[in-house]
Amino acid sequence: MDIAIYNTTLLTMQGKGLGIIPNATIGIEDGLIICLGKAKTVDHGKTDQIIDGRNHITMPGFINSHIHSGITLLRGAAQDVPELEWMNKAIGPFIKHLAKDDLIAGSRLGVMEGLSSGTTTFAEYTDNVRDLVEKVYLPWGVRVVAIETINEVSRDRSKLKPTDLYTFDQDKGIAAFKRNKQLFHTFTGNPLVSVMFGPQALDMISLELLKEIQTECQERMSKVHMHIAQGERERLQIQGRFGKDQTTVKVLKSHDLLDSNLIAAHIHDTTPEERELLVDHKVGMVGCPSSISMIDGIVPPVGHYRSLGGRASLGTDQAPGPGHHNMIRELRTISLLTKVMSQDPTTIPAWEALQLGSVGGSKNLGLDKKVGSLEVGKQADIITIDLKKVNLTPEIHKPFYNFIPNLVYSMNGNEVDNVIINGEFIIRDYKFDKIDVEAIINDVNQRATKIFTAAEDDWIQADSKLVDFHRRGYI
Ligand SMILES: [Zn+2]
Repeated sequence: MDIAIYNTTLLTMQGKGLGIIPNATIGIEDGLIICLGKAKTVDHGKTDQIIDGRNHITMPGFINSHIHSGITLLRGAAQDVPELEWMNKAIGPFIKHLAKDDLIAGSRLGVMEGLSSGTTTFAEYTDNVRDLVEKVYLPWGVRVVAIETINEVSRDRSKLKPTDLYTFDQDKGIAAFKRNKQLFHTFTGNPLVSVMFGPQALDMISLELLKEIQTECQERMSKVHMHIAQGERERLQIQGRFGKDQTTVKVLKSHDLLDSNLIAAHIHDTTPEERELLVDHKVGMVGCPSSISMIDGIVPPVGHYRSLGGRASLGTDQAPGPGHHNMIRELRTISLLTKVMSQDPTTIPAWEALQLGSVGGSKNLGLDKKVGSLEVGKQADIITIDLKKVNLTPEIHKPFYNFIPNLVYSMNGNEVDNVIINGEFIIRDYKFDKIDVEAIINDVNQRATKIFTAAEDDWIQADSKLVDFHRRGYI
């Protein structure tokens, strides 16, 4: 065997409940899980690397189902502003100044943050996603779902009123669609990369192109990952284009664009009936609780979607608003926000949050044959969590396992001490194997300083609420 973790508590995330196996061993060879079970039943005699798993949880790595990692360079740039200002007035002036290399540097920062808090699969959604796959994910050996953003609208919308309709540039959309299709050829056979289509949102793409994407997706047996019903900004565009009584879900339904290949990010601007319709059509949803509560002041309807029997998982979305790519924080956030919204403390208990962040993600992204749970034959994407930390103490095994709720409600993310992807150590005993953390931080600080300085005039002219906070000495 290449690696064995012994004397550990396994959360396999399959079988009964969370599939908890105490005093267990798990063995890895050639990137795969080759054995797991009670310590006595597994022989780890001839093993290259042995990890003592005492006082540790060993579980599948988390799956971040929706991330735009490149803009992590703008962490702290856009928060506490009205939803109508966020995209075009708060973050827009900075995004304009990001060059390709800045997005790569930002991605390194975001992915590094995700890895260090236990994420092993990232559904990366961006323009020219191939750059990030080749320059960030693959050199580090990190699993990625590559989603090319396809839209037909211009980047600079800071001068538009919310009711001014976006103008469309067909060539821009066609070029992005071509890049998206090319990804299938480029990464064929790569065990770490899978590809989906990324029409950004119905307000940013024509129905003609969206239909073409859906046809191509069906031929390739892939998935379409799309932002759907994100709030007032989108709603005003849809009403302006399709009619006062129209919504994103209604338009998609009437054009036969709702199906089980669709992964819908956000969907918070939907009625309960529309959510039922999405579940009936087997559409999966991704909730990004930190991002959406920050941008929109809204709780993603993950709890409601699950109660209808819908497929759901979680993502961090973007760092400039909510500030992080730490899935552990998302588990806690969705659980607490859902309890408050429903005024019911039984909604999204800790065990369900853990499912949403792991096996739920793999099912939603169509990766459940490969990752998301610990089973013999699956890819070895595994993390260990050190329970001997102040905030995770005491560790109790009887009459029940108190560390399950503690993982969700008490953990910060920096208790993850080993991260293995495809059978290779990414982090070993808290240290990155191939990543120079300090060099990345220094690079990001230099680049971000330049961008924030270059964007200053545009930012002041855009005049978001943050400019007022700044004038009054609050930021
Ligand atoms: Zn997004």
